Amino acid sequence: MGTNLSLASLETINLVRNKAKDSDLIVAFGSGTVNDICKYASYLEKKDYISFPTAASMNGYTSANASILVNGYKKSFKAHLPRAIYIDIDILTNAPLRLTLSGFADFICRSTVQADWLLSHLLLGTEYNELPFTLVRDLEQILPREYTALTKRSRKVVLLLMEVLLISGLGMVISKGSYSASQGEHMIAHAMEMVTRDHSSLHGEKIAVTTITMANLQEKTLSIQNPIINPTTLDVKHITQCFDNIEFVRTFEQKQIMQQKIQEIICKEWTNISNLIKQNLLPAKYLQKIFEDLSIPHLPEHLSWNKEQYRKVVDLAFTTRDRFTFLDLANCIEES
Ligand SMILES: [Zn+2]
Repeated sequence: MGTNLSLASLETINLVRNKAKDSDLIVAFGSGTVNDICKYASYLEKKDYISFPTAASMNGYTSANASILVNGYKKSFKAHLPRAIYIDIDILTNAPLRLTLSGFADFICRSTVQADWLLSHLLLGTEYNELPFTLVRDLEQILPREYTALTKRSRKVVLLLMEVLLISGLGMVISKGSYSASQGEHMIAHAMEMVTRDHSSLHGEKIAVTTITMANLQEKTLSIQNPIINPTTLDVKHITQCFDNIEFVRTFEQKQIMQQKIQEIICKEWTNISNLIKQNLLPAKYLQKIFEDLSIPHLPEHLSWNKEQYRKVVDLAFTTRDRFTFLDLANCIEES
């Protein structure tokens, strides 16, 4: 079987490493996949790399992590930042529209990301940093007003999008992890990738679908006035039936131990917690309208995802990472 060089797989990484043996520097001329390949290959070779993005398609240009395909699964590996990033606005503006719109979705999930990250902080005292969001606030206010210009390839708005994506990537450096750009919506998307092996839809297209799911879930949860927490009806069997990964069972069991503490805090502090989180939230309807206006796929069926399977994955996605999000509350919180 030949190597599929269009994927950021370990085979492609090794090929680039071999080719780059006699070079001082690797130049990543391309979008997400090329960037991940060059970032990780140069990191392993202890060489510098320069990034030359050809599309405003995702926020990974300024992130130190590389997303690499291992046995059909995307995994995030520690790597390094480029020495420089060169932007050619003509190249970005003329990129395939699908890529640009995918980048927009990968940015606008800021709303569901912030809600999840803040929830974890308020319930469990995990670290939280407002700075990554403050840095993009002004630009984020312009973008929803002018987003339709993206489809007309407006240089000004494409550049604006690239700017927020670069800052959003730096936000991950500031928050020492992907916390400020990847929460429940990314967990569902990655879990769907594992289950369906769908590598044909773009990262941002999956994120658009899962952002709408998360936004609805967050809204529904935050509208609860007097919450009670029920014991979960999910067990280990559900997890092993859905995912072929024993680590997820362990994460599930660890999260079960925290239930008591979470229950106590929610009973005492829910009004405060939900008011704080609502401050930075974009309504699900509003996000859906933006995606509709831009013709970005935003429902499971738009990506030919089986609805039944999708619902199962959404229910179980909380076990895929030791990160606490609204996904953890989905099965157990309700109005008393
Ligand atoms: Zn993303």
